[in-house]
Amino acid sequence: MYDYLIVGAGLYGSVFAYEAIKKNKKVLVIDKRDHIGGNIYNENVEGINVHKYGAHIFHTSNEMIWNYVNQFAKFNNYVNSPIANYKGEIYNLPFNMNTFSKMWGVVNPEEALAKIEEQRKEIKGEPKNLEEQAISLVGRDLYEKLINGYTRKQWGRECTELPSFIIKRLPVRFTYNNNYFEDCYQGIPMGGYNSIIEKMLQGADVQLNVDYLANKEELDSKAKKVIYTGPIDAYYGYSLGTLEYRSVRFETEIMEKENYQGNAVVNYTDYETPYTRIIEHKHFEFGTQEKTVISREYSTEWKLGDEPYYPVNDSKNGELYLKYKELADKEEHVIFGGRLGEYKYYDMDKVILSALEMCDKLI
Ligand code: FAD
Repeated sequence: MYDYLIVGAGLYGSVFAYEAIKKNKKVLVIDKRDHIGGNIYNENVEGINVHKYGAHIFHTSNEMIWNYVNQFAKFNNYVNSPIANYKGEIYNLPFNMNTFSKMWGVVNPEEALAKIEEQRKEIKGEPKNLEEQAISLVGRDLYEKLINGYTRKQWGRECTELPSFIIKRLPVRFTYNNNYFEDCYQGIPMGGYNSIIEKMLQGADVQLNVDYLANKEELDSKAKKVIYTGPIDAYYGYSLGTLEYRSVRFETEIMEKENYQGNAVVNYTDYETPYTRIIEHKHFEFGTQEKTVISREYSTEWKLGDEPYYPVNDSKNGELYLKYKELADKEEHVIFGGRLGEYKYYDMDKVILSALEMCDKLI
């Protein structure tokens, strides 16, 4: 008899497994995919770690979590500095003095601020939609070239039809600093994410290609408690309705050249280019391989059966989740955790913290 059956070999399940094993618990980890790692899994293509389920950059300001992950891997000094390509014009992100200088030829913060202030005046009163909100924050030029097309592609709707709350604030910096994150620590694990998960799962029995929900009774009988990191609505057979996600389609291609775009992340901010971003995976690890691998990202509507990526944080889905959570809270032998179990966008550091806190509570 196992102490824990962990459904999902993603980061949440793997951290839980590692901590449970440390406390001499017997653990069975299953996953319906044919690999461990969940969404942080890297696929090796041409010697390059390809982020199969989307680019993953580790960043945190929590020193305890940083030390925790550093037990499992050394991290490189990758700093996320995405660029935007608007019809061939290149701009630095997030919005900073490099962006303003390219956009307007300004050279100091005072000039940049004056330009933004002048353009913001266009919006009088409370912004009524996302377009007005964006212009009221950063002015029309930045909106037209760097926000409008990208956001329309992301949401499949005009910015005038999107609510203003989607962009409550836009990070604007009046320094020449292209570092996207403001966290104290960031990087990519040297050698990729898989070896972190492999180390965490040492000592656990792991079974892949096993769908918990298709063999629930039999699997439940193998353990005293279940840690379930799959979708909470799927656990209940979608009986109260389906929680919605936004999805992404990745089109991955091997290119017969060493360097395709000179940066790991390039956002295509015009509306006409059908994809939102191109990721060139080797640059996360400063790769020098002969070939390169890129992934074009297309924002897509999600339907049941598609890969769920981003939970939709509107009131309809929020309320439905709470109804499922009410059922989940009554379960005596099942704990729901992770991004799908809690229907929550969790960065990796937050998911680790959440799994550690659950271990402290349970074990
Ligand atoms: P998952 O990794 O999804 O693991 C859940 C596992 O459960 C999966 O392997 C699944 O196959 C399995 N499972 C589900 N149902 C069943 C079932 N019925 N039977 C068996 N197995 C099942 N975070 C960052 O910190 N930095 C980033 O740059 C970053 N980029 C991201 C980009 C994208 C596109 C997305 C969507 C997320 C990103 N994240 C990032 C967040 C990060 O992916 C999550 O924090 C992390 O993957 C969550 O781990 P998890 O274990 O909760 O979920």
